[in-house]
Amino acid sequence: MVPTAEEFDVVVIGGGPGGYATALYGANAGLRIAVVEKDRVGGTCLHRGCIPAKEFLETAHVYRTVAGAKEFGVQVEQPVVEFSTSQARKQKVVDGLWKGLQSLMKSRKIATFIGTGTLGANHLVTVDDGNGGTTELHGTHVVLASGSAPRTIPGFDIDGTIVMTSDEVLALEKLPGSAVVIGGGAIGLEFASMMSDLGAQVTVLEALPQILAGCDKDVAAVVARSFKSRGIDVRTGVQVRGHTPNSDGGTTVNFGDGEQVTVDAVVVSVGRRPLSDNLGLQGTAVKVNERGFVEVDERMHTGEPGVYAVGDLVAVPNIVHPALAHVGFAEGIVVIKDILGEDPIPVDYTRVPWCIYCYPEVAFAGMSEEAARALVAVIQHRRDQRACEHEGDHEPADVEGIAPAEIPFQAEVVVVRLIRAQLGIAGVGEALGWVDPGQAG
Ligand SMILES: Cc1cc2nc3c(=O)[nH]c(=O)nc-3n(C[C@H](O)[C@H](O)[C@H](O)COP(=O)(O)OP(=O)(O)OC[C@H]3O[C@@H](n4cnc5c(N)ncnc54)[C@H](O)[C@@H]3O)c2cc1C
Repeated sequence: MVPTAEEFDVVVIGGGPGGYATALYGANAGLRIAVVEKDRVGGTCLHRGCIPAKEFLETAHVYRTVAGAKEFGVQVEQPVVEFSTSQARKQKVVDGLWKGLQSLMKSRKIATFIGTGTLGANHLVTVDDGNGGTTELHGTHVVLASGSAPRTIPGFDIDGTIVMTSDEVLALEKLPGSAVVIGGGAIGLEFASMMSDLGAQVTVLEALPQILAGCDKDVAAVVARSFKSRGIDVRTGVQVRGHTPNSDGGTTVNFGDGEQVTVDAVVVSVGRRPLSDNLGLQGTAVKVNERGFVEVDERMHTGEPGVYAVGDLVAVPNIVHPALAHVGFAEGIVVIKDILGEDPIPVDYTRVPWCIYCYPEVAFAGMSEEAARALVAVIQHRRDQRACEHEGDHEPADVEGIAPAEIPFQAEVVVVRLIRAQLGIAGVGEALGWVDPGQAG
């Protein structure tokens, strides 16, 4: 208890999806909540991520539909993109949602403090407003929800005009005529697809052997084929080596074994880094792993009693933690239920549905087919071993480095994959909502 600090049941640092979901759920349960946000509530998702990216993908969708209208007997002139209008529309949508979120938080009596929050000893949070002013808050519980920012790579300094991350692309008034997208993950492919639809010549450079690493090979192959047929140059297994800006604008990107491509812009999309370094965690028992993620257990507890963490900031040991807005929402609910002593069901990260809104859209829930097959093989092996043990002629051995006791005898495996072009429906992201992962096979 710190006498000078304002008192709350829960102080949340970071007002993105993880933070505001925790705050709203906690306020609904009658807890006194403070949210500390250094920029604007809504976080990456609302201002620099899901919402603006989907808004531009919708522009691309409208353009594609109009451009292909003749095929359906609808005669139209060749459409022209005015990206500044799309940018203005995007901003209107974002601002409207931002206003709505602020009103919602206010109506739930959540106290919002604008400034950078740092955690000190005894759950004391200091808010620095950036103008020399500080406020001290004390929470019976503290939730770290500071999220993530784009990663960069050496040799590609972000200048906001030639070399950009997703943050800068989403603020453009005019799209480049040509672009290299470094990174063939979900975000990189959404940008590649959107820019190509809207007339840019796009090259995707991916260091790994396939785009959408970690996803099913056949899904990645369908997307790669579709991209290539639309004129997107998809190169896998290539390293970028740097770039040389040209005197007349644009730049030449060096990659692979001496290959080059000259473009107007480079979009660096090589993943995201957790924002743990601005939380002042050094003097606490919060454990930060070697990649900067805050380690939590299945109830989102950090190493410091009473301090939780949610969202893009966290890593759960031995589990792939998806960096998705709805994962942050679900984790916020786990935190509040834990605080209330309600014995929460932990988030099952193996069943999280997710979608890539490129064209063709792809949606997933559960394991990849390869991972499911590997698990089934291991279970079968374990069962065979048990049969042998019962016959008394074998000691159980390790299976691919996993201790026998840790291998289950049975498991429920969920594999859901939807690809828009195959389904011929409006959007597989919505269709995924029709699938009950409990019924999926
Ligand atoms: C281009 C793009 C597209 C995406 N599309 C999707 C999608 O379609 N679907 C999906 O589910 N996810 C998508 N994501 C991911 C999604 O945006 C993130 O998973 C989500 O925003 C993470 O929420 P968060 O609350 O953990 O962090 P964030 O949204 O990053 O919010 C963290 C907040 O904390 C604030 N903050 C940081 N440090 C401090 C501090 N010390 N003090 C005070 N405030 C602080 C930040 O300003 C920020 O507002 C996308 C991301 C990007 C970049």
